[in-house]
Amino acid sequence: MARVGFVGLGIMGSRMAANFLKKGHTLTVWNRSQKACEGLQAKGAAVAGTPEEVARESDVVFSCLSDPAAVRAVYLGQNGLLAGARAGMRFVDTSTISPGLAREVAEACREIGAEHLECPVTGSKQGAQDATLLLMTGGNPAINLELEPLLMCIGKKAIYVGETGAAATMKLLGNTIISFMLEGIAEVLTLGKSAGLAPEKILEVVQASGFASPYWAFKGGAMARRDFETHFSIDLLHKDQGLALAEGAAHKVPMPGLAAIHQVSSSARALGIGGKDIAAQIEAVEAMAGRKDHPHR
Ligand code: NAP
Repeated sequence: MARVGFVGLGIMGSRMAANFLKKGHTLTVWNRSQKACEGLQAKGAAVAGTPEEVARESDVVFSCLSDPAAVRAVYLGQNGLLAGARAGMRFVDTSTISPGLAREVAEACREIGAEHLECPVTGSKQGAQDATLLLMTGGNPAINLELEPLLMCIGKKAIYVGETGAAATMKLLGNTIISFMLEGIAEVLTLGKSAGLAPEKILEVVQASGFASPYWAFKGGAMARRDFETHFSIDLLHKDQGLALAEGAAHKVPMPGLAAIHQVSSSARALGIGGKDIAAQIEAVEAMAGRKDHPHR
């Protein structure tokens, strides 16, 4: 059994960390706001005062942080993970960040003789809870193989994508697809409703069609029920859309569709609903349509 560390106990991290305890590993955790540590402490985790202390107490440290700024601060900042790291340690970052930052953190790990695996995930809150996430990994293939038993504590499948940066890129590609699907169903439900069709009837027909998708049932269903409890926030998808657009610019690939959708999630944030689930993006579309079935006008 490994001495596992986990930093970043938000919606995803708190659930992933709990799965290491369930599998019998020793766990040391840290979160910026200490309150998030209480549930895991009650289940047997040790709570550290800083990321540096987590690194000192662990052999393998997992992280799940909101954005590039958080990853930079927690890995490279004062009292950060690398301040407590030693040669031979392993770091696994499950955050969705830019490929460039993933490479920078991996290089900083290498300089002290530690190994870094980038490991963005998909499967949302339920997948994190049930340890059924799909993991995308990037880095040294030998380290990927070595860490697979630990990766399987939080996921049901890990796909090795390539060198560091490849998995971060893949994750941004996936969230680009999600962005289009989400905007598509939000516009369809809003137009359908304005034209007098019930959302449930629209989804029934769509799901019986050749363009059916589990995603329509998941997020379209949440839109129809007006269930906006947060699994994955608009703020975080907006961040990922910005990262994907930056990759597009770097590679000279125009992404006019994603740029327009990014503006829709910007408008959702301007309405004050950035912390809600991405299904609430329909409220931004409704607001643009001048509809009164959302409370944010
Ligand atoms: P979340 O609930 O908002 O949690 C974010 C975590 O990052 C919290 O622990 C937060 O600490 C920490 N954090 C933010 N800024 C920080 C800083 N400057 N320094 C230290 N810690 C900081 O987000 P989440 O939904 O769990 O997502 C976490 C990551 O997984 C993101 O990169 C997201 O894009 C990715 N992801 C999410 C999903 C999903 O469905 N939710 C799915 C796949 C991937 P506090 O508690 O103190 O704020």
